[in-house]
Amino acid sequence: MNREAILAALRDADNQAALFREADQVRRAHCGDKAQLRGVVHFSNHCCRNDLYCGLYKDNAEAKRFRMTGDQIVQTALSIAQAGLRTVVLQSGEDYHYTCAMLCSVIERILSQAEVAITLSLGERPRNELRAFKDAGAGRYLMKHETMNPELYSRMRPGLRLEDRLGTIDYLREIGFQVGVGNIVGLPGQTLEDLCEDIAFFQSFQPDMINIGPFIPHHQTPLRDERPGDMDLMLRVFALTRIVTRNTHLAAANTVATLSPEQGQYQAFVHGGANVIMPNCNPFLKSRNDKIEYEFQITTRKRYVSIEEAKRVLKRAKRTLDQGRGDSLKMQGGRS
Ligand code: SF4
Repeated sequence: MNREAILAALRDADNQAALFREADQVRRAHCGDKAQLRGVVHFSNHCCRNDLYCGLYKDNAEAKRFRMTGDQIVQTALSIAQAGLRTVVLQSGEDYHYTCAMLCSVIERILSQAEVAITLSLGERPRNELRAFKDAGAGRYLMKHETMNPELYSRMRPGLRLEDRLGTIDYLREIGFQVGVGNIVGLPGQTLEDLCEDIAFFQSFQPDMINIGPFIPHHQTPLRDERPGDMDLMLRVFALTRIVTRNTHLAAANTVATLSPEQGQYQAFVHGGANVIMPNCNPFLKSRNDKIEYEFQITTRKRYVSIEEAKRVLKRAKRTLDQGRGDSLKMQGGRS
């Protein structure tokens, strides 16, 4: 698809039903009716970055922070495996409390005890560390590019440059990771042309997985008074992404459920071509009375999506649960 066609489809809210039908056809032809559940261990909400859109940003003095120990991370990962999920996502803020050696040990301990694939979502660690994580056995890395507009990127992420992020994303692919990228729909100041560039990037890079989420204003950030991302526009971004990437794993992020609790992830599946959900699996999140759960919720404002809730979304969308590891379909089908 060229940029003119992408932009025209982004603008054309009146005919989005036809776009959604096409995305669903492409999803069925290239991904089938099976869907992936990937269990997320959100093991730390400390972060050294100051991204304006995120409640975890370093200077947020109101945030109540937590960290899990290495043992807790491993135990949580094993409980995910016991629940029948074959991918464990280790996610945190960019938190250098965890050394490279600590994280490699966690990866190795999980892999020695469970037949799972490990996805890392740890931010931009130094390249020698990224390579060490790969050597320790982690096969996948999720690093959202956030936006392809370099000015908007640096405005939202003070002190950081898009070209550095993209360089790290290229490096992840170079050293053999299955690579996930993703954007935020509805960032203050973002234009349709910016979203068009995101989709053009998905088309040219052909990532192994993509995580698209709406902008959600967090009450503890400088963007607290901004409007959230628009649901229909976000679904058009999903649909176009499915059409241009064909068989990329496309996640209905939990922020989609935050934007629209009853409908969001379901619509991402049936209209946007999504085929992945990543439920929260922190043990601390199982009890509403648990202090750490509460702190996590008020800090991220992400909706808690349990494994059971994720399965309900799949059932409603008439998808069956893929029992496999959920490796990249690009590994079998190429990147065209
Ligand atoms: S988006 Fe990630 S890197 Fe940025 S402040 Fe939040 S947790 Fe940190």
